[in-house]
Amino acid sequence: MMTQEQLLSVAKEYGSPVYVYDADKITSQYNRLINAFKVDNLRIHYAVKALSNISILKLLNSLGCGLDTVSVQEVKLGLAAGVDPGKIIYTPNGVSLEEIEEVVKLGAQINIDNLSILEQFGSRHPEIPVCIRINPHVMAGGNSKISVGHIDSKFGISIHQMPHLLRIVENTGMHINGIHMHTGSDILDIGVFLHASEILFEAARNFSELEFIDFGSGFKVPYREGDIETDIEDLGLQLTERFNSFCKEYGRELTLAFEPGKYLVSAAGKFLAKVNVIKQTTSTVFAGIDTGFNHLIRPMFYGSHHEITNISNPEAKARFYSVVGYICETDTFGNNRRISEIREGDILSFSNAGAYCFSMASNFNSRYRPPEVMWYKGQAHLIRERETFEDLTRHQVEMNFESLNKELANKN
Ligand SMILES: *Cc1c(COP(=O)(O)O)cnc(C)c1O
Repeated sequence: MMTQEQLLSVAKEYGSPVYVYDADKITSQYNRLINAFKVDNLRIHYAVKALSNISILKLLNSLGCGLDTVSVQEVKLGLAAGVDPGKIIYTPNGVSLEEIEEVVKLGAQINIDNLSILEQFGSRHPEIPVCIRINPHVMAGGNSKISVGHIDSKFGISIHQMPHLLRIVENTGMHINGIHMHTGSDILDIGVFLHASEILFEAARNFSELEFIDFGSGFKVPYREGDIETDIEDLGLQLTERFNSFCKEYGRELTLAFEPGKYLVSAAGKFLAKVNVIKQTTSTVFAGIDTGFNHLIRPMFYGSHHEITNISNPEAKARFYSVVGYICETDTFGNNRRISEIREGDILSFSNAGAYCFSMASNFNSRYRPPEVMWYKGQAHLIRERETFEDLTRHQVEMNFESLNKELANKN
């Protein structure tokens, strides 16, 4: 990982706030996955929505990683990064048939997650193989906002609807080449994952032309000391054995697929912000920084914990702070945090800032979105510029009330 001096040098060169991604960490996470699953055919599809910078996609592509996409725009980003469309899977939810057809033309693998679209798609394009997203109704545990396996979830086709699904496949003559599940983020327990996998294997027996089984993601990464981390190596041992025995029974070597986002990029990212002001109230010391939930929304949106370190003053005595943003909303990054003494002008570093941080940033309060930097082989490379005032106005169309009113007055 990058040292505090290296992080400070990035903040100095590119200003604050700024996102930094450590390419080595992304690479080592990818290799850990590859080494954990010892099957003949393994395909990792990186979930683009976690962090969609083209240079990140290019880095992952160079490692051999494919992409998991949820919009036609993400598919196009992948193609722009040079990814082979055959290595892109498209797993949308609630999109139109027209968008799916657009993605078919781009050559990506289609994954369908509801019976209505399955029937319409199968009727129109029976020759195009599709993957189906099954909801095994297994709760991933953890935060309910990121759990998508429950019975009333909008994601996937319920396993209980298999008879209807099979009827659609038969009636349309369509080809199912893959079967998929994604039960949400934060798998705390491998047993739960393996249980869901059994349901997927059971479902897979209904289809004779499968090429792959995609187990989605939900790999948990630690956000603070003592957090549970999905034991990838243990999962690898157990699922590999089970998968290989299923393939034997099925009579064909299938590809084992996953689509992690967080696991690949979360820990690789740091978000650096500068302290504008220290403010004391009767009970609290606030450290106000030059950012807000416009740049990093996870703490406010999900209640996520991001470790905060004062990299400008790491050796000082620790004190308690509430770290807050500069926008006109309550935007608390961390309450009652023990951080080495903070002075105005210090740079604070947020950990786990790779996944769902920049990609969820906005222009709220008309602030510019921050730059992104890739740390690659000991050097910083700018991979996105800080926005400018022109970015705020670019697509706005100004009304000319004066001439409009004149025109209207003349008409009357
Ligand atoms: C978001 C998403 C992922 C990635 O989830 P992580 O928790 O970031 O690993 C994978 N698959 C699908 C279909 C998704 O929507």
